[in-house]
Amino acid sequence: MKKIIILGATGSIGKIALDIARKFPQKLHVIGLQAHTQADTLLTLQKEFPHATLALTGASHPNQHLLQGQDALCRLIQNTHADLVLNAIAGASGLHASLYTLEKGIDLALANKESIVMAGEYLKKIAEKNGAKILPVDSEHSALFYLMKSPLAVDEYIITASGGAFRGKKVTDLHQVTAQEAMKHPTWRMGAKISIDSATLANKGLEVIEAWKLFDIPIDKINVLQHPQSLVHALIRTQDGALHAYISETYMELPIQNALLDPELALASCSFLDLVDKTLSFTAIDHETFPMVNLAYQACRQGDPYPIIYNASNEEAVALFQAGKIPFLAISRIVESALSQLYPHPFNPLILADIWQADRWSREFSSNYYKENHTC
Ligand code: NDP
Ligand code: MG
Repeated sequence: MKKIIILGATGSIGKIALDIARKFPQKLHVIGLQAHTQADTLLTLQKEFPHATLALTGASHPNQHLLQGQDALCRLIQNTHADLVLNAIAGASGLHASLYTLEKGIDLALANKESIVMAGEYLKKIAEKNGAKILPVDSEHSALFYLMKSPLAVDEYIITASGGAFRGKKVTDLHQVTAQEAMKHPTWRMGAKISIDSATLANKGLEVIEAWKLFDIPIDKINVLQHPQSLVHALIRTQDGALHAYISETYMELPIQNALLDPELALASCSFLDLVDKTLSFTAIDHETFPMVNLAYQACRQGDPYPIIYNASNEEAVALFQAGKIPFLAISRIVESALSQLYPHPFNPLILADIWQADRWSREFSSNYYKENHTC
């Protein structure tokens, strides 16, 4: 029986993870749950998972049984003796949880792609030192993880993009679009931030960086294809020229389940995908309308700390867009401008303080850029 902690239990990934725990009571024992603001949902979950220690990290609540305060997350992870932590916290703050987990030598099922984008090298070093695994949850990376078990040498790694809410649109169509429209994802049901990132294709940009850092793939071997059906999650091209595709439902159940149950694959427990009469189509990314993918490649080529700067400036810009302060098209302009700056501080990817300094610098730059350019 694997003892697991689910972080971000009230979010889109967290809820699917809870369903998986319900489905495998003989294999998964939930001993910890974290939410940021939704105390009531967390307390309701306790009735169903009575052995779970609960942590509320972003609000206060009179219930004495909740771990609260600044160190609640750290106490939850480090005092409960879990075998695996699922990190499904949204945004850069998820990095703390990844660190607490790996420092304790606990396996990490990682949905929080920001952790790897910001501190891939650092996290992998700690994981190795403490004998812990990092198991990808992002569907494309989960797919690559299994495809890469191929004994053949790989020439190309392809991740797919649904195209988000504005697939097929041109720049002229996007001047006035709202956050509500950007969040209407055509194929995936996800949290607000990642849905907007899908509309700008920043999510795919982050995933290019994630693949590059997680698997040490040369950046020039990673490609992105638009695939509206979201059934093929990743492909590899082996040296003999063949393409191998990973095809599964457009639902996060399988990648989460495989990470939670690793190394055991839950044989045929997800719904059977019937390909009869299904169309699978692929097109190139429209980089002119959606510059965020190319900006991610640029960040990788510029090297550290530019992936951190990409992530933080995007987070700031998305928050401004959600607040109605900037138009949709300004998101990529802010990120492009942040990447064009010469980073003014020394940076060592193995020093945590340097990682957070780059994150802060990028947020300050982006917020000042907005103030100076108003609606950008
Ligand atoms: P949601 O917005 O649906 O959920 C986020 C969760 O994180 C909630 O439980 C929320 O708590 C908690 N949270 C929010 N802010 C903080 C914070 N500052 N500190 C601690 N906890 C916080 O997000 P998703 O589930 O969609 O995404 C989670 C992560 O997984 C992201 O990194 C995303 O990129 C990644 N991911 C998501 C996929 C998806 O299909 N949704 C697919 C692949 C990756 P509360 O609700 O209580 O405030
Ligand atoms: Mg993904």
